[in-house]
Parts: sequence; C-alpha cells; structure tokens
Amino acid sequence: MLNFLRKITQEVNAAQGLPDALNLVVERICEFMNVEAVSIYLLDEAGKNFLLIASKGFKPGSDGKISIKKEQGLIGLVAQREEPINLEEAQAHEKYVYFKKTGEEIYKAFLGVPIIHQRKVLGVMVAQQREKRKFDENEESLMLTVSAQLAGLIAHAKAQGGFEGIKRAVKGKQSKQIKGIPGAPGVAIGEAVPSYALADLDAVPNREVEDTEKEIEIFNDALSLARDEIKVLSKRLQGSLPEEEQALFDAYLKILDNESLGVEVITLIKQGNWAQGALRDVIKQHVRHYEEMDDEYLRERAADLRDLGRRVLTYLQAEEQATPDYPDQIILVGSEITAAKLAEIPREKLVGIVSARGSSNSHAAILARSMGIPTVMGAVDLPLANIKGQQLIVDGYHGKVYISPSATLHREFQRLMREEKELYDGLEALQTEQAVTPDGHHLPLLVNAGLAADIPSSLDVGAEGVGLYRTEVPFMIRDRFPSEKEQQQIYRQLLEAFSPRPVIMRTLDVGGDKALPYFSIKEENPFLGWRGLRLTLDHPEIFLVQIRAMLLASSGLNNLGIMIPMVTSISEMLEAKKLIQQAYEEVSEEDPQIEQPKIGAMIEVPSAVYQAEDFAVECDFLSVGSNDLTQYLLAVDRNNSRVANIYDSLHPAVLQALIQVVSSAHAQGKQASVCGEMAGDPASAILLLAMGYNTLSMNATSLASVKWVIRSFTLKQAQDLLAKALLLKDPNAIRDLLNHALEEAGLGGLVRAGK
Ligand code: PEP
Ligand code: MG
Repeated sequence: MLNFLRKITQEVNAAQGLPDALNLVVERICEFMNVEAVSIYLLDEAGKNFLLIASKGFKPGSDGKISIKKEQGLIGLVAQREEPINLEEAQAHEKYVYFKKTGEEIYKAFLGVPIIHQRKVLGVMVAQQREKRKFDENEESLMLTVSAQLAGLIAHAKAQGGFEGIKRAVKGKQSKQIKGIPGAPGVAIGEAVPSYALADLDAVPNREVEDTEKEIEIFNDALSLARDEIKVLSKRLQGSLPEEEQALFDAYLKILDNESLGVEVITLIKQGNWAQGALRDVIKQHVRHYEEMDDEYLRERAADLRDLGRRVLTYLQAEEQATPDYPDQIILVGSEITAAKLAEIPREKLVGIVSARGSSNSHAAILARSMGIPTVMGAVDLPLANIKGQQLIVDGYHGKVYISPSATLHREFQRLMREEKELYDGLEALQTEQAVTPDGHHLPLLVNAGLAADIPSSLDVGAEGVGLYRTEVPFMIRDRFPSEKEQQQIYRQLLEAFSPRPVIMRTLDVGGDKALPYFSIKEENPFLGWRGLRLTLDHPEIFLVQIRAMLLASSGLNNLGIMIPMVTSISEMLEAKKLIQQAYEEVSEEDPQIEQPKIGAMIEVPSAVYQAEDFAVECDFLSVGSNDLTQYLLAVDRNNSRVANIYDSLHPAVLQALIQVVSSAHAQGKQASVCGEMAGDPASAILLLAMGYNTLSMNATSLASVKWVIRSFTLKQAQDLLAKALLLKDPNAIRDLLNHALEEAGLGGLVRAGK
C-alpha cells in the first residue's frame, strides 16, 4: 500500500491541473482496490450542491453533469457525518438515491469517505462494486489517506480559480484514455463509428435519443412493417397449419400492437433511450418473464418473443444500413470486429480499428495488420454505448485509445503521424532492393495473403512470393462453400499475379476463432478441437475440391505449393498427402500440364516441433505458424485479452522450439520458413535471420520494415544478438535487448510512434 500511495502522490503532483489529477486518482484506486467504480464529488461555491467531478466505472459523459443537493443521498450523509460510510448493499439504506445517467444502480457495495480540508468538507470520494460486500479496514484507510491528500490540492485549486474554474476545467476535459493491446502498429486520428452485429438484440448499445418524436415515428413504422410481415406469413401458411398454430399468428399480431409492445417501448424512448435500445429492454424483460414460467408451452413462447423482437429490430436497422453516413476518417469500434464488417466500410475512409475483445494474434488483428490499419484490441473498457461520433486517437504501438483527446494530445499525435509518414515514405525506396544483409546473406521475404486486395500491394512492396495464402477468407465471406470453379478462379488470379514467384496455399484452416457462417461448430475448447486439417480430413469432399481447384489453377504456371495447417501427427500428414495425390491423379488426366506441387507442413503445435525431422522427411518444406505455436507452447489463448500480456513469441521456450524446427528441416536438406506474425515483427526478424530460416513470410505492410532490418544487420551481428537472447530467461528482457539494438542502429521508429 505504501508503494501505491507513494506512486499516486508522485503522479498526482505531476498531473496537469485538478481534473487530470482527479481522473488519475479514480483510475488508480479502481485498479489498486480492484473495484468497479470510483467517483469524486465536490461541494459548489455556495455550499449547496455536490457536483460529480471525476469518475471511473460510470457511463461516459457523467462528469460535470450530475449534481446532488448537499443533504441528499449517501453522499450527503458522508458529508454530514464527516466520516466514512461503508455499506454492503447501498440500495438497502434509506438515504440511497441514484442517478440513472451514471448507470451506478448496478453497484451494491458502497464506501464513501469525506474530503476535508481545515475542518471543512470539500467533497466526497466513493468506491462502488457490483458484488455485495463490506470494504475492509485497509481499503477504508487507503481511501481516507488519498482523500486527505486530495483535500489540499482541491483547496488550492479553489483558491486559484474558484469552484467555477474547476467546473469549467472538468467540462472542457472529458477526455479519457483506454488501455488495450497493440493490434496493428501505427497511429490514427478519426471519428468513432460503432459496429455491432445486426439483428442481434444483445448487441444493441444504448444511445441517447436526439429527437424523441422522430424516434417514436421510426419505431412505429418498424412495428407496422413487422406486423405486415407476420400477416403475409400467416396468409401464406393458411390451410397448411392446424387451427391452434394459426391462432399463434393472431397472438403475435396482438403483441406487435401499438397498445402492447408499442406502448412499453415508446415509454422507454420518452425516457431518453433510442428505439433499438428501448426495444431490446422491453423484449428482454418479457423473455425473462416467459422463461421463468413453469408451463413448458409458455416457456417456449420466449423464443417467439425474441424472434418478434428481432424482426422489428431488422426494420429499425434497415434504414440505418441503407443510408450509412460515414465520416471521412473512420475509426471502427466494436465489441468484436469481423472480416465481414471490415469489408462493409469504405477502405479509403477507414483509418483505425478498436475492438473490445480479442488479442494481437486474433485473426481480426492479423487482417487489420495486413491492411495496414492501426488497431487496438482487447480494449475492454471501451464505452461502446456512447462512443458514436466521438473523436478518437488510436495508438496501435502501445495499445492505447484516447477518447475526446485534449488539443495538446491531438497536436502531439498529429506530429507523430507526420513523422511516421515520412519514415514509411522513405522506406518505399527499398521496394526494388533485395533483402540482403550488409555481409551478403540473402533472406527472401514473402507475403501472407488472403484478401484479393492484397495482390497489387504485395507486388508493389517487392515480395519474392506468397509464403502463406490463407484460403479461408473466400470461404468466410460467402454464405456457402465456394464451388470448385469459384475457388479455381480466385487461386488462379493469385498464382498468375505472382508467377513465376512461388505461391504457398494453405488448405482450409477453419475452427478456433475462424468460423464459417454456414458451418457452425460449437465446442467447449475450439482451439483444441476440430480445426485445420482435423476438420478437412473428416470432410475429404471439401478437402479434395479445394486441392483440385488449386491444382487446376496452377496449370502452366508451376508455382504452387500446398501447406497443411494444424497437423499434429505423421499419420495425418500421410493421409493429407494421399488425398493430394488422389486429386493430382484426377486433374492431371484432365490437364497434363499440371505439375506436382511442393507440399509442406505447418509446424504450429508442440508435437510437430518434437517430430519436426519426421515431418521434414515426409514434406518438401516446413513452415512455422508461430501464432499458434506460441499459443500451444505457452498454453495462452491467442484471442484472450486477459492473458495477452503473457502471450509472447519471444518467450525463450518458443525460441528453442524455432531453433529445433530449422535444424530438423536442414538436417533433412529441406527448407524452413516462418509465416506467423513474428516474421513481420522487426525485432523478432533479427533472431529468425540468425537461426538460419530460409524465408520469412509476413503481411505486405511489414515487408518494408523487415527489409530495412535485414539490410541493416549483418548475419554475424544477428547471430551475436541471438546468442545474447538465448542467455536471457524472460521475453521482456529479450524484447528490450532487440529494441535497444534497433534504436542503436537508427531503426527505433519501427517499434514505436515517431521517426
Ligand atoms: C500461425 O498460426 O502462425 C499462422 C500463420 O496461421 P493462422 O494465424 O492463420 O492460424
Ligand atoms: Mg495457425
């Protein structure tokens, strides 16, 4: 606790002005005490009202707007008693009042301490938590100690600019910083455009309604369209349904009546929520009610209600979708960002992405990196409900998002963006240069592809081929499996564009976090389940169609390689090879020009590392999928933001595995490459060069940076750094070593904002 107090004192003293200091205090206390909300109220000049000045865990935009009479509620009671009030369940107290705008009604536990300076109460600081519990003595004394420290600061600020000065400063400064995980490097400034799954009531955010009358009109229109739809359905089924089932439609129409569902939703709209949010609340409440019923028949009606709600929602969202009014600089924010959602947004306007879920190795982040869009993942505190239209800064290097940044911060990031552009413009000159170290070692750099849009940009950056083509993207953006012909066309485009350079196509790797909308897989442990080769071996009809399409597409070009994902045992590899041979025999009868492709195994599970040499015997090449290999070696879900801090491909165990793979391949005279994200990480690339990997494959946007690294470090320097890295036991120490080497070589701009 002493350390915490010392640190917070230093930070508060260094803060710029009182609002900054108070925001910092609420943040830090929340973190340290592990509570969900901390708020600070100050008494106004006249001594009549408390104003909410800073908060964490309340709805955004509450600060500076909530005012409570001096003697009102528990805040008033703390001030009046001039001592802490510690309640297990605040709601049970007779003085309890809450402000809907803050969203604080969800918190039960309450600890309020007065902020007193020279015997005068200046304000109240409160900690709150959902869980019903009493705060302990340590927590009380921590709050009291911090509040005593704040008292002096507040008194000083009041003396300087009066209470009005503080209020103005707070109102002018509603900016907020959210910590997430670096997803894709770069910095972006733009306007928040929320993304949420359509026709999904659970995904609907709250939104303050601007024009109540108009919102009611929109809702009434949607309701009447949903009623028309039910009438059409009912007519269509007349005669083919028994009478009692037919009667259900009448019941649905009654529910969708203006007098029933309508009234309830409109009441909520009048209370300030938009139609979609109001509809969500009403439907959910009724669904809960039905679900609790004893009668099974009635319980099942909950599903009907949900369905009716979804129908109305679809009409409400139709208008939104038809006329998307996009700002020029879009920062797409959402609880989860999908490939389909990304495809909807005009590419030229999309400058940044923030996702509340996921981690740096989630496929959404990989996609964002391949598009070169600065991204922050795992920003769990993102205030999705109120974010629309707010200005955001995305710092993809540090995984930070700034909401409504101050003018100073804005200027600083504009400067960093300018510098970054200069740096990358400079790197363009390297496009025509080879990736050769100063001592003459050539390390071919290939690209990872998956989007059609990748092709021109990959060729522009001077890639020596495609080291990983993720075939699942064309499967994901359709509503069914693509046909052999469709696949053949897509593959041909890529093979032709890169010919004579090699193109390594990976067979379908769905499962894990890559779902096909039309092929649902529900598993407890999807990453340890039915994914990659395991799934396609169970469905040879899907596998064979894909291989045939690849082979047919390669006719006359002879630059195709086929790579197998998620292979765990040699027997699986042999089975895959057998199917490839079968497909080859079939297609070569149709077209004798088609040649045998090179076949490789992806080394991405620990068993394949131990058996790398056996795989090398069976294959033409090995390619390390370091994203999955890291996840499986460290037992850290690559998608889980909670454990993202321990997911690190520079972990000494991963480095040892990488060395084992490359030496196993070489022992059998085969080539080894890395196609996971670490190949595109400038720091890691130094080590992969030193280990002797034959090629590296990465996102097109990383290629210039890695080429710069290869052209800046001799093989000998890289080997010395690897030797030093292997003595270190901690991934952070290894990263520091490499980042330091990059800074020393003048390449620091590759691993942080600015030049
Ligand atoms: C990997 O796992 O490193 C890899 C390249 O495949 P993906 O990221 O598509 O799982
Ligand atoms: Mg993988």
